[in-house]
Amino acid sequence: SVPSAILSALSAAARGGVLFKGGTALETLAAVKSFAFDKTGTLTTGKAEVTGLAAPGMEEGAFLALFAGLEAQSEHPIAGAIRRAAEARGVTVVPAEAVRALPSEGIVAGDGAAPLWAGNRRMLARMGVEAVPDGIEALADGAETVVWLGRGHRVLGAVTVADRPRESSAAGLAALRTGGVSRIAMMTGDRRAVAERIGRDLGLAPEEIHADLLPGGKVDLVAGLASAGRVAFVGDGVNDAAALARADVGIAMGVGGSEVALQTADVALLSEDMTRLAEAHRLARRTAGVIR
Ligand code: ADP
Ligand code: MG
Repeated sequence: SVPSAILSALSAAARGGVLFKGGTALETLAAVKSFAFDKTGTLTTGKAEVTGLAAPGMEEGAFLALFAGLEAQSEHPIAGAIRRAAEARGVTVVPAEAVRALPSEGIVAGDGAAPLWAGNRRMLARMGVEAVPDGIEALADGAETVVWLGRGHRVLGAVTVADRPRESSAAGLAALRTGGVSRIAMMTGDRRAVAERIGRDLGLAPEEIHADLLPGGKVDLVAGLASAGRVAFVGDGVNDAAALARADVGIAMGVGGSEVALQTADVALLSEDMTRLAEAHRLARRTAGVIR
């Protein structure tokens, strides 16, 4: 049977919006020395917004209709931003068919010779894009996430998408450090310029900011951290389910996170307040007798 000290800690954590799937998860969290965080939808709100658009030779509404149709079924925060931008302009969106996601890269509709696709630089390379039309490249110069839309080898246009850190993220990370966590890393599939801007905002050390990752890259980094002690991974499950599973403690965002992540994680964070996570870590340590 579960000792009563653990039971009462589990229920106290639950009242704070941190749901442990059992006493073992609580005990393991007490021993965690490193925390790895996904960026998009975890340290950031995941409520991204389209902030810029360039589609030379195409009417803006038609461009957004095509883009939103491709992103119609995707659960990625970027897809939500594109759909909302289309909706705000009142364009009619027809969902694309036979869409498949390439994790941390983008999405493609169909498998014909010139499929419609959207994604990042990695996707441009996959599609054999040789040149980007004038007037779009400038969009990519800033420190924002750039999402390209194209057909076959051709780029049709691009949008910039901005997401911001959750209000509680910086305080949550600081509280984890105060609570004895020695390493805090951020792992993202997004580009370096964006990762560095957001990581700096949150007070992360430059060497703890990891960008341009594929899902497997997150797993490898978690495994690397695990060689120095127990590691927790906090993610929303979009392109990071494998890292959640690899960590000693997988912590899934319950709000806006994916269903699968919630099922496989050891802990569900039902609050959007990141300081609750630090409180749960502290509670776990106190219960385990690591601290008083
Ligand atoms: P993070 O690790 O920060 O949560 P992801 O790994 O989910 O980010 O995504 C990394 C990048 O892959 C995005 O910044 C985007 O460029 C591209 N991408 C992923 N999913 C999509 C999508 N549905 N549409 C367009 N681009 C996408
Ligand atoms: Mg994410």
